[in-house]
Amino acid sequence: MIKGDGSGHPLFLLCEDYLESVSVATSTGYEYSQLRRDVIKLLEPLGGISTFISKGDKVLLKPNMLAAKEPDLAVTTHPALVQVVAGLVMEAGGIVSIGDSPGYGNYQRVAGKCGISSAARNSGATLIEFNEAIELKGSGTFRSIHLARSYYEADKIINLPKLKTHEMMTMTCAVKNLFGAVIGAEKAAWHLKAGRSRELFAQLLLEIYQLKKPALNIVDAVYAMEGNGPGSGDPIKLGLLLAGENPVAVDLIAGRLAGIPANLLHIERKAVELRLPGALREHIALCGIPVEMLPAVRFKLPAGLDVQFGLPSILVKALKAHLTSFPEADKNKCIACGVCRDACPPAAITIQNSALSIDNARCIRCWCCRELCPYNAMSTKRGLLLRTLDQLSKITNR
Ligand code: SF4
Ligand code: SF4
Repeated sequence: MIKGDGSGHPLFLLCEDYLESVSVATSTGYEYSQLRRDVIKLLEPLGGISTFISKGDKVLLKPNMLAAKEPDLAVTTHPALVQVVAGLVMEAGGIVSIGDSPGYGNYQRVAGKCGISSAARNSGATLIEFNEAIELKGSGTFRSIHLARSYYEADKIINLPKLKTHEMMTMTCAVKNLFGAVIGAEKAAWHLKAGRSRELFAQLLLEIYQLKKPALNIVDAVYAMEGNGPGSGDPIKLGLLLAGENPVAVDLIAGRLAGIPANLLHIERKAVELRLPGALREHIALCGIPVEMLPAVRFKLPAGLDVQFGLPSILVKALKAHLTSFPEADKNKCIACGVCRDACPPAAITIQNSALSIDNARCIRCWCCRELCPYNAMSTKRGLLLRTLDQLSKITNR
């Protein structure tokens, strides 16, 4: 068992000790030459790529490769960004591999469909699959955590997340992207352990980040995803790239840019509670483009999100059934392929005679079923009170 991140630092350092820098740059699209110029500009205020990479470093790029989806759907990190970063790291003398462990499906198929195989081929990087784990000691709440060996043993990690909404955690960006270092089926086991607790799952994600800190995080927010992310939301053009050494700080800025209320961001709230570096806005130095040039957007949030309107806990308890949303298969789209059933951590989904049913009492609302359905056939059945409020807001907005 290995303790901590190998640097001699304790797992958690206090936020007051640090000032974190996050750089933001505009980018109009994924055309290679322009994107390369944009990434170089993005990294300039942070000292350029050579600040993070030394000659001979074995560098692992960790894009979001959630599922076998085309790049234009904004489910996965765009391959052009992966290729650009691979090229820059090689120019700095790094030896580059690209790897992930997708939520579901054959790795080569996922890598092919989302364009990452081509990005590896075009740049000369090695595409690797996470298939061997190493056991690491957690901080106490989690006794041990298994991470991919090739991830843990890389000299440097460059985290390449996609900015997206997330039905369970509200947003996925730099911290959540590192959950990909947990191999395949073990992801479901962690969902099961965390159950319905967003807080516990957020703590797990923050521990995973602390066990192997990325050297650099570069966020693909040129096209991001809003609505029912992370697998079936809508692409939204934000035209931005973000970068920073600390994924907590990068996520905080990404959340503000997406216009997501801080009280809905479970990872950020947990990071504040744990007093992690980068968890407070006043300890982040924003560089790159001036704040007034940043777009003012408000991402559409996922339909299944827990929204409790700041009600007192006694009322939330009483109205729980009416405030809670559950997944529901769309009979016109579902082909009973079984992907969701196989991925469901508490085995709440059954399929009989091609008819799918969900046991809501078992469902932990992790939304893995919706995230991984290849046919976008899993929708959201919103609680009665939420549906009533939806109707009221439609009437008042007329
Ligand atoms: S909801 Fe989607 S993943 Fe589940 S069985 Fe139907 S088509 Fe397959
Ligand atoms: S039914 Fe869907 S949301 Fe519920 S536990 Fe299973 S995978 Fe998670």
